[in-house]
Amino acid sequence: FAGPLERIDETTWRIPPDYKPGMQVEGRIYADERLIEQIRKDQAPEQVANVATLPGIQVASLAMPDIHWGYGFCIGGVAATDPEEGGVISPGGVGYDINCGVRLMRTNLHIDDVRPRLSELMNVLFQRIPAGVGKGGPYLFSGKQMDQLLEEGCRYLKKIGLATEEDLKNTEEGGCMAGADASCVSNEAKKRGSDQCGTLGAGNHFLEVQVVEEIFDPEAARIMGLEPGTICVMIHSGSRGLGYQVCDDALQEMRRCPEKYHIQLPDRQLACAPINSPEGQRYLAGMRAAANYAWANRQLLMWQTREAFSEFFGKPWEELGMDLVYDVAHNIAKMEKHIVDGKEKLVCVHRKGATRAFPPGHPDVPERYRAIGQPVIIPGDMGRESWVLVGQPASMEKTFGTTCHGAGRVLSRNAAIQVARGRQIDKELAAKGIIARAHSRAGLAEEHSDAYKDVSIVVDIVDRAGLAKKVARLRPVGVVKG
Ligand code: 5GP
Ligand code: MN
Ligand code: MN
Repeated sequence: FAGPLERIDETTWRIPPDYKPGMQVEGRIYADERLIEQIRKDQAPEQVANVATLPGIQVASLAMPDIHWGYGFCIGGVAATDPEEGGVISPGGVGYDINCGVRLMRTNLHIDDVRPRLSELMNVLFQRIPAGVGKGGPYLFSGKQMDQLLEEGCRYLKKIGLATEEDLKNTEEGGCMAGADASCVSNEAKKRGSDQCGTLGAGNHFLEVQVVEEIFDPEAARIMGLEPGTICVMIHSGSRGLGYQVCDDALQEMRRCPEKYHIQLPDRQLACAPINSPEGQRYLAGMRAAANYAWANRQLLMWQTREAFSEFFGKPWEELGMDLVYDVAHNIAKMEKHIVDGKEKLVCVHRKGATRAFPPGHPDVPERYRAIGQPVIIPGDMGRESWVLVGQPASMEKTFGTTCHGAGRVLSRNAAIQVARGRQIDKELAAKGIIARAHSRAGLAEEHSDAYKDVSIVVDIVDRAGLAKKVARLRPVGVVKG
């Protein structure tokens, strides 16, 4: 990126609105001097400027420190658009993996009790958790049941005994987003999804056994049930083939929208439609259905993990204290109320590789967490660490209630494989006490630590910017990759 990046404060860099014709607002990237040099090497800042041209965009086109190149919008991007000002919705601003996200489950188990049997436990999880490209699992949904799953998400799973009330409470949107319409999801998408709910998928998706290593906010950690030495399970997956198909279908349908609605786009990948258009409304209703499918997917992955632990340790999962801490979406668009120029507005917040981070007191934060802020789950990489944060007030002032979603890639998949050539990633991890197993050969080679930024730097920036506060650092001890 050869354009201007002006530093405005310790953690924020600006792309002025005169950088590119059509920019309605400025670009803002959260980073420090270490990260910005690396961000500059990529075309992602150009994408931040492109997004600033979208009709109805509010305040700024934003990017989190885990920013990297993505389809149309960068990953780590945030954009709020106002339907009253012709604001658009763009499938590329959500991403192909609709409601990809992360959940964290705690346990009563201590690392000292698990360590001697860890390799056995990882074998069980590797066998039991369905994973791999296009791989199906034990749960089947079709016809009316699929429609219910799409419209009711985890609430439907509760009806059929695969989720508890507590699980729902600790999931963003209660695991069921209003306004989902199964008739806005194609039969092709439903077919792809029929046996994939409760499966991990491939690539960057994972199930990780982690141990709480350090606590930064004792009160928040206590409320979440996290103590040093506690075993946790982190699950990262999305809406599988179903969500991919919903995105693809919408991109097809919206191909002609820029012409139809007189929208000038600097990049065809930004295909979009006004929120208040039939195409925009149809995508939103289909996207919400795919989002519900993704929450159900993570719920069923967690359910299978509970069953596996329960059999392995010979105790009911409740006795093992396997409670959901929280589940967050990091690829989604939502209608939310935000204050813009001193006025409350209902805007469409696109978060693509970005996590909601509502502050203490916000009505959408579950009661249990109301005093500390919404939990934010940030995966790092399989060789280093991951984080739990809580949302902070500045997120509402600066980023439409948003923070980062991960470490962010520094190497493309191909480049990562190059770097891994001749190395044995599983042995390197084993030397650090991490048991890693992948279903595909490329799995570990694409996903080793060198492929990602250092998540501690990313988390440091959002903490310093006041978007989210550090609660706990988690260290991986066992990883299942797709
Ligand atoms: P994304 O949703 O953008 O594909 O990935 C989110 C984040 O997950 C990445 O930016 C990276 O930091 C993190 N991540 C990817 N693979 C792993 C893994 O195996 N373990 C952990 N803990 N984090 C990972
Ligand atoms: Mn993801
Ligand atoms: Mn994903």
